[in-house]
Amino acid sequence: MEFDYENRIVGPEYAAEEDREIELSLRPKTLAEYIGQEKAKENLSIYIEAARRRGEPLDHVLLYGPPGLGKTTLAGIIANEMGVNFRVTSGPAIEKPGDLAALLTNLSEGDVLFIDEIHRLSRAVEEVLYPAMEDHVLDIIIGKGPSARSIRLDLHRFTLVGATTRAGQLSAPLRDRFGVIARLELYSSEELAQIVNRSAGILGIEIDPAGALEIASRSRGTPRIANRLLKRARDYAQVVCDGVLTREAAGLALDKMEIDALGLDAIDRRLLTTMIRNYNGGPVGLETIAAVIGEEAITIEDVYEPYLMQLGFLSRTPRGRMVSPAGYAHLGIPMPGQQRMDV
Ligand code: ADP
Repeated sequence: MEFDYENRIVGPEYAAEEDREIELSLRPKTLAEYIGQEKAKENLSIYIEAARRRGEPLDHVLLYGPPGLGKTTLAGIIANEMGVNFRVTSGPAIEKPGDLAALLTNLSEGDVLFIDEIHRLSRAVEEVLYPAMEDHVLDIIIGKGPSARSIRLDLHRFTLVGATTRAGQLSAPLRDRFGVIARLELYSSEELAQIVNRSAGILGIEIDPAGALEIASRSRGTPRIANRLLKRARDYAQVVCDGVLTREAAGLALDKMEIDALGLDAIDRRLLTTMIRNYNGGPVGLETIAAVIGEEAITIEDVYEPYLMQLGFLSRTPRGRMVSPAGYAHLGIPMPGQQRMDV
């Protein structure tokens, strides 16, 4: 069967128009409502409180971690807690230095400018960002050739919140200009169950604790996926269990979506089986895996691997990726010779 990659239901980036609207309604607005990520939350609440007391904007914040973990949500909360406007853009959307200049000159004192996928800013745009972040000024060049001259504009003070799935790809000068750097982690099933319960309340879905935990434990540690699975499972509850989302209804819905007990979908399983069948479980290079399963290497690294590694099904070694004994066991495939296991 050909898998429908575009509509991959557990892909964190999948977002139909309808899903996007629901996502907005489910976004927590305050730090107190934001579940999990205790370390990042604790640090941020101290910085926010201190900045508020000084009557100054918050220092620039860099958030990093896999997609769907709540970076945009957290940036919105920062703006809300600071009582300022929240402006959203992304690295690829800022094509020229002039685009960034337009955004920056439109900010009011203390505003939060959120740049998603900040690792994708061009060099030329980054150059404009440095003095803006550091000294709240904008250097613009007027004219061309020998008559060109540079003028300096003062900007309002602002907080830049950058988000990236890969902090390692940020240039060092950009990274150094963030005063606060927070890494978001995959969520535990218990935390996700709380998120599912909260979302069910907002969406008016009746759910029992076992149903919430069933959805949570199959959501790959990712709130965006948990919310999406909740929405899909609701329909099953209506048909099968009198509208209450029980463990049975959730399980049925997820099985139908080919999401297994640990949250792996058809592509995850294909990735692992391909490595086992074609490459004896590895080591095999990322590019090779990408070519064989028809996904981009960057997507495999950002979206699939973090969860497979957290489960201990896959490891990164200097010679390439390897499927672990636990990965074989999950797929029910016997391991070949024992030596390879010990690498
Ligand atoms: P990212 O920007 O990291 O891709 P988002 O901030 O867009 O992720 O989060 C995706 C969805 O997950 C949001 O709509 C929000 O409802 C939910 N979410 C994320 N983090 C949390 C959290 N800590 N508590 C409750 N809901 C969350």
